[in-house]
Amino acid sequence: MSQNDIYDLIIVGGGPGGLTAGIYAMRAALKTVLIEKGLTGGQITLSDEVENWPGTERIKGADLAMNFTQHAQSYGLEILNREVVAVEPGRELHSVVLDNKERLSAHAVILSTGGNPRKLNIPGEETNYGKGVSYCAVCDGFFFRNKTVIVIGGGDSAAEESLYLAKLAKQVYIVHRRDALRAGMLLQQRVKEECKIEVLWNSIPTAINSDAGGVCSVALQDTKTGEKKEVVTDGVFIFIGFDPNNGLVPPDIRLNPNGQVITDHKCETNVPGMFAIGDLREKYARQIITAAADGATAALAAAHYVEAKKAVAACEAPAGLFSETVG
Ligand code: NAP
Repeated sequence: MSQNDIYDLIIVGGGPGGLTAGIYAMRAALKTVLIEKGLTGGQITLSDEVENWPGTERIKGADLAMNFTQHAQSYGLEILNREVVAVEPGRELHSVVLDNKERLSAHAVILSTGGNPRKLNIPGEETNYGKGVSYCAVCDGFFFRNKTVIVIGGGDSAAEESLYLAKLAKQVYIVHRRDALRAGMLLQQRVKEECKIEVLWNSIPTAINSDAGGVCSVALQDTKTGEKKEVVTDGVFIFIGFDPNNGLVPPDIRLNPNGQVITDHKCETNVPGMFAIGDLREKYARQIITAAADGATAALAAAHYVEAKKAVAACEAPAGLFSETVG
């Protein structure tokens, strides 16, 4: 393999994190390729309106995704529309294998494969997504000011997001399938003290109903008695867990019990030169801006890593070879 075939950086995944990494990598003069199997932009392509991207009060998710992509391409970022089937760490170089069996090599790899909120898989969930069904209170809560919302789930996310929604909504119902929340005690206490929140215990949602204006009610079933009822609501926020897309993460890389990649403050994993960003990694907030921030951090750290690696290799090279390389 000649030096010309080797990338400085391969970015796997073209959401806001991956594209921002591409922008920063190109500005740092890294020879970079970004590989994405679908449309670039990731989850934001599914968002109708984005209202928390600083500097832009309101923008269609698809338009923001296009802006990210065009910005990255304006620096000449190579975007390869292929599926990655394996990522293999190596001693000298890391490899990325494509679905056509082609193998690309690079000094550094940024994994940016995102993740997905878990779905209830009940009637009305998919069809009403963006029309009252949401998986992100910070993104969509603002649309439910002085309205009634239902939160599904009993973990930390459900509790925390309910407290966030209680600041905006008129009434928040938490629907939980058991008689005790899984959330930590402090969050439980805060939920209990918030007068706008009522917990509907031992209940599972069986359908999300809508009319011309969007979501209008949720059908619930009591897990103990089997009793059925309908609760009128303007929105449904579902927080029953999050699955990171970690299928390509090499086995050597450390994950937390939720399957998220553990990284340091540079977004670097325990394998040198392998970085993980955005929803794939263990982090506090899953937002477009935090994914983009991860992309910038990882690309700058990757640039530092690649430069240091090349400098060491140049020092270790035989004198003749070194003068040839730099000459
Ligand atoms: P989680 O802890 O797995 O909780 C998921 C909740 O959804 C559980 O209460 C579960 O009920 C319920 N659930 C699961 N499948 C369901 C279904 N099909 N129908 C109805 N309910 C269902 O997920 P999470 O709240 O997203 O938290 C994920 C991780 O992030 C956790 O480790 C959490 O501690 C952490 N986190 C921490 C913070 C914080 O510290 N501030 C904030 C957010 C998240 P059961 O209880 O009956 O299983």
